[in-house]
Amino acid sequence: MIIADPIHTAADLEHWSSRGTSLAVLGHPIRHSLSPAMHNAALAGMTRDHGEFASWRYYRFDVLPEDLPRALDLLHVRGFQGLNLTVPHKVVAFDCIAEVDPAAQPIGAVNTLLRLPHGWRGYNTDGPGMTSGIRDDLGAELTDAHVILLGAGGAARAAAVECLRRRCASLWIANRTPARLDALLAVLQPLADRIPVCGFDPQSPPAGLPGGAWVINATAAGLRPDDPPPIDLTRLPRAAGVYDLIYNPPETPLLRQASELGVPRANGLSMLVHQGARSLEIWTGARVPVAAMMSAARAALRPAA
Ligand code: NAP
Repeated sequence: MIIADPIHTAADLEHWSSRGTSLAVLGHPIRHSLSPAMHNAALAGMTRDHGEFASWRYYRFDVLPEDLPRALDLLHVRGFQGLNLTVPHKVVAFDCIAEVDPAAQPIGAVNTLLRLPHGWRGYNTDGPGMTSGIRDDLGAELTDAHVILLGAGGAARAAAVECLRRRCASLWIANRTPARLDALLAVLQPLADRIPVCGFDPQSPPAGLPGGAWVINATAAGLRPDDPPPIDLTRLPRAAGVYDLIYNPPETPLLRQASELGVPRANGLSMLVHQGARSLEIWTGARVPVAAMMSAARAALRPAA
């Protein structure tokens, strides 16, 4: 049973007490987060085989950026076992935790914190979540694939590092703002290890783009119904498929165009679920019921009747 969960704030932590093992997501805003529904459904499923998870509970906190360091300290003092971080905390937290998982270093952002006796250890599960989402929804592997990545923000950085780590065949990155694109290319250069990494202007795609590439949208273009697509797919060689990190709305203008062109496509709900499943594995050390998390996320996304 999924119990309706209130929105807590950093002030609640001053007097927080809970008997079981606590997990939480911190963000601002946090109202629309699907994480409590996903994680509490998973914990309920895990309890059937492992009774100790009956006392685990996942909460949500609306934390202002300026309150994050104090909130992290208090959550540690109050005994929280693990945290997820979402917008706008992933980068700031990177600089105020005790340890960073080596795989998260080049991303410069963490979305998962594990309690250690002396502080928090940070991980980034977005990239592996994306790989699993693309595999589940599109039956594709990033290894040896040509990838056209749209965006140069935090999610694009995690996606680009993941593509290189998986040894894609080539990585082409387009972003609206050239300076941000250049900054991302500079971060990626030392990781490329002979994989071609090129930037381009989404308004004028270069002639050398490979056919049969996987297009990954890691921009925020498409969150609002009147957003233009971040690129015109008809100006690219035919893509093998399109994966859009946005999952709400479920069909962005980019995915609509892919549908009109008959190109395989999927939204980022599977990534959200898989990055959450990885977090829960890190906190519990146990196998996590991904299907239960997906059902809970879908149910939480459905508008109330
Ligand atoms: P961010 O750091 O703010 O970066 C935003 C990116 O979107 C930048 O590249 C920005 O380009 C671009 N952009 C914004 N509006 C645009 C527009 N109208 N046209 C073209 N480009 C535009 O955000 P983020 O954290 O990387 O998140 C990006 C997206 O990924 C969000 O929609 C987020 O919901 C999604 N996401 C999904 C998951 C998942 O689990 N499915 C996980 C993480 C993120 P400029 O540099 O030109 O401003």
